[in-house]
Amino acid sequence: MTERFEIEVAGARLVLLRGDITEQEVDAIVNSANPALTPGGGVSGAIHRAGGQELTRACAAVRRERGPLSPGEAVLTPAGNLRARWVVHTVGPIWRGGRHGEAELLARAYRASLELALAHGARSVAFPSISTGVYGYPVEKAAPVALGAIRRFLEENPGGLTEVRLVLFSAADFAAYRATWEKLARG
Ligand code: ADP
Repeated sequence: MTERFEIEVAGARLVLLRGDITEQEVDAIVNSANPALTPGGGVSGAIHRAGGQELTRACAAVRRERGPLSPGEAVLTPAGNLRARWVVHTVGPIWRGGRHGEAELLARAYRASLELALAHGARSVAFPSISTGVYGYPVEKAAPVALGAIRRFLEENPGGLTEVRLVLFSAADFAAYRATWEKLARG
């Protein structure tokens, strides 16, 4: 079964693949962080384990300087032992039924991450599926928001990034994103 899809958006590659975000060879990977930027579990725990002490210390320094992050915000740190150069830490919304601005906050988290990566000179960025783990955002509702926000950013910033990847860890998440992907690829 194919576990990688790719389309072109405004001269950039938009890639959907099944895999592990900590293994991506891109300029910046995005972490679905908690507001305190502590390692925690899930994808954030995995990124901190792979990044090591340097990453966790950089996060602690950011937290001391600017306090906790709000949903939709993003900050950037060096990536420690990861293959990527930077980690962009963003906080997604906690799902509370869908009528509390969740979609807008989720789109903002993707957009803020892309803006920050591009501002630091990154050309390639990889995302996990933000908010669809312990934060409870239904993956079939998150997929169109995530892919739509990324596509819009690429359209609005031509000549900026060369590649954005969405890296899905589980088969079920990959299938949910793939269903949205097929609609997107058709236009
Ligand atoms: P959130 O607080 O955003 O819900 P979680 O870490 O609980 O954060 O989950 C976000 C998504 O990250 C989930 O879909 C989970 O399957 C996925 N995930 C967990 N580990 C990895 C990994 N190593 N690479 C990519 N995605 C991962």
